[in-house]
Parts: sequence; structure tokens; C-alpha cells
Amino acid sequence: MIIGKHRGTCATIDLGAIKHNLEIERQRMEPGQELFAVVKADAYSHGLVPVAVAAQEAGVDGFCVAVIDEAVALRENGITKPILILGASPETEAPYMAKFNLSTAVSDLHFLQTAQPLLAAQNLKLKVHLALDTGMGRIGFRDQETVKAAIEFMNHHQAQFEFEGIFTHFSTADSADDSYFKKQLNKFHELMEVVTQRPRYVHVANSAASIWHKQCGGNMVRLGIGMYGLNPSGKEVQLPHDVALKPAFELTSHIVEVKQVHPGDSISYGTTYTATKDEWIGTVPMGYADGWLRRMQGSTVLVDGQECEIVGRICMDQFMIRLPHEVPLGTKVTLIGENGGKQKTAQDAADYAGTIHYEILCSIGQRVPRFYVEK
Ligand SMILES: *Cc1c(COP(=O)(O)O)cnc(C)c1O
Repeated sequence: MIIGKHRGTCATIDLGAIKHNLEIERQRMEPGQELFAVVKADAYSHGLVPVAVAAQEAGVDGFCVAVIDEAVALRENGITKPILILGASPETEAPYMAKFNLSTAVSDLHFLQTAQPLLAAQNLKLKVHLALDTGMGRIGFRDQETVKAAIEFMNHHQAQFEFEGIFTHFSTADSADDSYFKKQLNKFHELMEVVTQRPRYVHVANSAASIWHKQCGGNMVRLGIGMYGLNPSGKEVQLPHDVALKPAFELTSHIVEVKQVHPGDSISYGTTYTATKDEWIGTVPMGYADGWLRRMQGSTVLVDGQECEIVGRICMDQFMIRLPHEVPLGTKVTLIGENGGKQKTAQDAADYAGTIHYEILCSIGQRVPRFYVEK
């Protein structure tokens, strides 16, 4: 049962846009480079399995997720291409990952040492991508000695480990100032000096690096936000014109109550909004439990192509808007997407909330059903 199916609030995902964005990236990549679709966090809220199936149809070479259960969900839904788990997983889960033919990031020797006997006991072999911390400060090897030790350990235990990949992650690939990016890239080259036998995958690029640092190398790209059609940099840097990304996420609801209020009438918890004249107020069945954050109070949504302010506190399940005039019940409300020739983007919401569009999308809750179209 889909919770929220009968409520009139939904996200509509354009799988055609996702395929288009993957195709654009494919055209921009170097020959021989492979394209992995990053579908962690329920495919950035777009829906893990439907997005992965669409990406597979679009011909991606593999997938990246953050955690084991996302990878297993893909396998259980028929995804057979390589799947790389980007986050650090518990050593004790090594056999479980191997059983599902998953590849995992490994960020220290301890993982390999602990996993080795567990894998050996079950005659299992795990595909490993060594994570290199070149300046992100999150996970990974930070010096040549430890990288060397990890590779030697895998060479000594080839029945348990396949050294399949090595990678790093940039922290400023979307910044106009590329000095830290260069520092990280230099560090990456320095760490790679001890990798005498290159694994199948050497990868460094996320969406931002693939857009603004095409020359940064690697034979695989980990495309996340770009595949969903959003500019990784937010508003800081403009995308070059040749990257014509199409956003895939539309968020809509409808009006479930319309009323006229009078001067002095207040709206919602805490009476933070009080009408000063006769006003038309509409109620929308979407709230902070659905990811339309409480701090979106005062921002606008689109009704009949007009901006309507969210007035009063956003409740858990509903919020109210000020309408220019009376509208029929059921009138469409657009939070993200096009309405009457006007646009609202995830970036607009992020700017208002003081965050990034990634977080706006990831906040949209499970109670908002996702419907799929292919435009
Ligand atoms: C999330 C993630 C990506 C994808 O990043 P985008 O900015 O969405 O392209 C790539 N690599 C790693 C290691 C990640 O954690």
C-alpha cells in the first residue's frame, strides 16, 4: 500500500529527463570512460528502483549507492550491473556484500584484516574500491604507506578480495576557486604513485567535477545530481551552455479548503500571521512531515501561474496560502515545477531555506507518493 496515494500531494518524476541527462553526460565523457549512476538516498528522493531501471535502460555501466541495503534493494529488483557502495560499511557485513556481488569502498586496513577470515570461512570474494582521502576529510587512506599495505594485503588474499577500484572525492569541485581542487588532485596523483597495478576502475569525478573539471581524469564518472537535472553548484557558478540538463522532479498538491478571512483573523499555530484585510486563504495537504520544512513559511507556491505566499506556521501535514481570489477546490498547487508559465525550482526553495537543493529533495518524505512519467 502506498501511504499518501489518495491525498492529492505527489511528486511526478520524469524518467525521460533522467535518460536525457545521462545521455548528455555520456556525450561529454571521454571515450572509454564508464558512467555510474549515483542512486543513493532513494535516488535523491526520485525513487531508487524506478530510477535505476530507467538508468539501466539508458545504458549506464553501473550504480553507486551509499549503504548496503540500497545495493541489496537494487539486486532484489533485478539490477545486475556493478553496484558500488560509497560509504564505509561494517567489516562483519563483508560476506553479505560479497553474496550479492557488490563492490564496496574500503577506507582502512583494519576492514580488510577483519573481513578476510569471515570471507574465507564462506569461500566468498569481495570487490574492493580503496577510498583515498585527498582532502575531503571524510573516509579514506591519507598516505602512501597505508595504501601500499592495503594493496599488499589484498594481493596476499586474492581468494577473498578483488582489488577492483580506487577513488577519491573532491570537496570544492563546484567552486569558482580551483586552488583546493588542484591540491586534492595533486594529492591523488601522489597516492596513486604506489599503485603499480591499476585496478579496473580509477575514479574521481562527481557531477561537479565532470562538468567543471572534465580533464581531472579517471575511467569512470559517478554522476549524481546532474542526472537529476540540477546544477551541482546551486547558484554560485553558472553551468556552461552546452550542458542542457532537465530537472526530473515535480512536486504538486491541490487546494482542499478555500475560505475568506477578515481583518484580525489569524492562521495556524502561534498566530504568527493575522489578516489585515479580507483575504482568500487556501489549505494545502502538505507539511513538514512531508519535507516542506517549517522554515518555508513566507515562501511562495504557484497557483494558476501566480505566486501565493505560505501564511502562518507550516503544520506537520498541512499549510495555508494566501490566494489572490477565490479558486475552486482541487486547484493545482505547484511547489517545484511549472505552473501557468511560471517556474519554481528546488533551487528557489533551497535559497529561501538557506540550504542546497540536494537537501530540499532528500527531505521530501515517503508519504509523498512518486508517480512516473516519460515525457
Ligand atoms: C554522493 C556522491 C557522489 C555524487 O555526487 P553529485 O554531486 O550528486 O554528483 C559521488 N561520489 C561520492 C563519493 C559521493 O558520496
